Amino acid sequence: MCFALATAGARLGHRVLLISGPTNLDVPVDVDFLPVETAREMFEAVNLHLGKADAAIFSAAVADYRPVLFAEDKIKKTAESMTLELVRNPDILGSARSKFGFTGVLVGFAAETENLEQNARDKLRRKDCDLVVANDVSQEGLGFDSDHNQVILVYPDRVEPLPLDTKEHLAHLILDSVQELLSARG
Ligand code: C5P
Repeated sequence: MCFALATAGARLGHRVLLISGPTNLDVPVDVDFLPVETAREMFEAVNLHLGKADAAIFSAAVADYRPVLFAEDKIKKTAESMTLELVRNPDILGSARSKFGFTGVLVGFAAETENLEQNARDKLRRKDCDLVVANDVSQEGLGFDSDHNQVILVYPDRVEPLPLDTKEHLAHLILDSVQELLSARG
């Protein structure tokens, strides 16, 4: 969805900065691209650039945890089982208002397998978003690894379910919503 949104934004004439982790997708035309490899690098990149944006859309599927230890060399097998210790990654979206002081239109994504609307609404409140785009990732063939998606738009005061559609078209509908939120601010 990030790449579809960046493509749509550039086509509409917006200046777009796409901060992305590793992917095999082509960088969209007319988009500034900032590649990162880890959640912590993404956190720093967002911190650096967020202040310049009128609207920010957080659609990266960032890992919530990372391994405590990184091995430079191959880990040789020894014991029959092995325990990986994980620590929390920074919550980038959750830092947008509270740590980075972002005052623009803030859009988060929520990928859920149950209680879609309620979980999205909680996320909207907790992270002080203007809009959360929620998708049910338990539906096979939609969302991850697919050109199609089905989402509901969760606002503080209402919910708008969108029909199953291409990510390209959904990106345009989401940007229409962002434009409305920007216009409402005057
Ligand atoms: O809590 P959850 O991971 O479902 O939240 C999803 C939203 O939070 C997405 O907008 C995602 O880009 C963002 N996120 C983040 N930093 C993380 C994990 C998720 O900004 N460490």
